[in-house]
Amino acid sequence: MKYLLNVKNLNSEFVREIQAESKTRILHCYQCGKCSAGCPIANEMEYKPNQIIRMIQLGMEESVLKANTMWLCASCITCTVRCPREIDIAEIMDVLRRYAFKRGIFPAAVADIPVFNRIFLRNIKLFGRLYELGLIGFFNLLTGNPFKDVLLGPKMFFKGKINLIPERIKNASEIKDIFKRSAEIEHSD
Ligand code: SF4
Ligand code: SF4
Repeated sequence: MKYLLNVKNLNSEFVREIQAESKTRILHCYQCGKCSAGCPIANEMEYKPNQIIRMIQLGMEESVLKANTMWLCASCITCTVRCPREIDIAEIMDVLRRYAFKRGIFPAAVADIPVFNRIFLRNIKLFGRLYELGLIGFFNLLTGNPFKDVLLGPKMFFKGKINLIPERIKNASEIKDIFKRSAEIEHSD
């Protein structure tokens, strides 16, 4: 492991904050590995969910935040429902993403994910649903790959998988209200 454990990190601000935010007792993990055994993405992760939990226990903030684990997590909550210690690992992944986002920390291998998330949310805010063509088009442009997967577009269109023109759901204004309320909650923290 690249980053060595520093005993000063035990019970650090990092551990306390992740525990408090996730409202889960990370220190109760006894490393049974059931979370990682059920995780569909574990093989792609630099550190598997149980390893991330152990690293948090040990206060290894830098290693945790630089790993791709939380950014690859699909929030499927398999880990959470399998944990015999009732540790909400999926929620911890969410908290870690917010923690890293606030500090502007993204591993190079997943640096495009925040761009994807921003365009995705913008889509939902505008139309109340996903406009796939706009999502992929803007994502490719903003990440410097304007022609990535371009040949798939016509195939998907003729199979009826994507629309050329965005469709707005009924009552899209209610979705905008959700975004507005979320922003108010965020700024009141
Ligand atoms: S399933 Fe729960 S107790 Fe077991 S390793 Fe994962 S977090 Fe720890
Ligand atoms: S919530 Fe994330 S970490 Fe947990 S099993 Fe699903 S993908 Fe894996």
